Amino acid sequence: MLDGKTLQNFALLTLKIGVNLQKGQGLEIACPVEKHKVAEEITKQAYLLGAKIVRVRWENEIVDKLSYTYADTPTLCDIPKWFIDSKNYLVEKNFCYVAIAADDPSAFKDIPSEKLAAAAKARSKALKKFSDCVMANGIRWCVVSVPTKAWAEQVFPNSLDPESDLSDAIEKTMRLDRENPTLAWKEHIDNLTKKAEYLNYKRFDSLHFKNGAGTDLTVGLLDDHVWLSAKETAKDGVSFVANMPTEEVFTAPHAKKVNGKVVSAMPLCENGKIIDGFSLTFKDGKIVDFSAEKGYDALKNLIETDQGTRRLGEVALIGKSSPIAKSKILFFNTLFDENASCHLALGKGYPTTVKDGDKLSKEELSKLGLNDSVEHVDFMIGTEDLTVIGIEKDGTKTPIFTKGDWCV
Ligand code: ZN
Ligand code: ZN
Repeated sequence: MLDGKTLQNFALLTLKIGVNLQKGQGLEIACPVEKHKVAEEITKQAYLLGAKIVRVRWENEIVDKLSYTYADTPTLCDIPKWFIDSKNYLVEKNFCYVAIAADDPSAFKDIPSEKLAAAAKARSKALKKFSDCVMANGIRWCVVSVPTKAWAEQVFPNSLDPESDLSDAIEKTMRLDRENPTLAWKEHIDNLTKKAEYLNYKRFDSLHFKNGAGTDLTVGLLDDHVWLSAKETAKDGVSFVANMPTEEVFTAPHAKKVNGKVVSAMPLCENGKIIDGFSLTFKDGKIVDFSAEKGYDALKNLIETDQGTRRLGEVALIGKSSPIAKSKILFFNTLFDENASCHLALGKGYPTTVKDGDKLSKEELSKLGLNDSVEHVDFMIGTEDLTVIGIEKDGTKTPIFTKGDWCV
């Protein structure tokens, strides 16, 4: 269970490997109120590491659900200025930002999709400046997870102690079960960095994804694309790891050079709704057709959010031998599920996946082929039989993945 020494190690990994908190720096933690002990431990360790100030933003899905039920849509879409200012403040003051992602995957299953989508869109729009900055590594941020009761019960519906089972699973994927978790992370990060370096050296023009489920998709890459992995560098020059766990090596697809069909490999949990068994067909980067066995309306709302949610902003490679993939657990949480499988993202691309992208304007990035949107939503496409072939400008082909795993 995530307590005692393990909780302390969790807090230290989040602060030292994750946001890489520096002496004299401020920290904000977004935490479900149910897991206040975790926020308390991170706060304590942050002060011991020399934090200037630690602030916690408490979250409560029961209150949120009541608001979605009783408040009307225009009111839900009216995002207070003080809230927007409080996020921009983090950037101005170069705070570190830790988000604890532990949502109940079906918290809002009874709320109409349109209402959720409208509120989510208003929020994303209001916080665009902040999210643009976060995605361009303007601050150091890290997403981690701890088990909440409602979430654990969905992941382990037949367990006598779901929270403890989910806690064990998280500890394994966070490498908290290793003798020296910090050292284990350093080795893991080096390994991912080597893969990214190989792909950057090869400079593929496109990737071809194919499997037995019906995926047959060519993803064109930007000429100036950069493959990234766990370790990134923020604008202030300090390195950090934005997701823990993380197993991915990722870059930017060209917003106008994606063609073919892709079939989802795992359910997607979006705004408290589950979308499953879906496929997307692309032509010149844009979705021209889509289907879903479950959650069609939620998928439609997502795709129709804005012009950018009809196109891709990320392509990520993860082998099936990653600890998360091997666990075979469906977490209903993107932080874990995206690290179990190769994935794509609808919506905004990361400026950091373009050479010198943090110095380019929005227009320049878009000219180069980077997608923009108020959203960025990952969905899984990697299966056990997935093949990925890298194609160079002159047509030379190199297999990167066979049978769902790295072959380079
Ligand atoms: Zn990703
Ligand atoms: Zn993503």
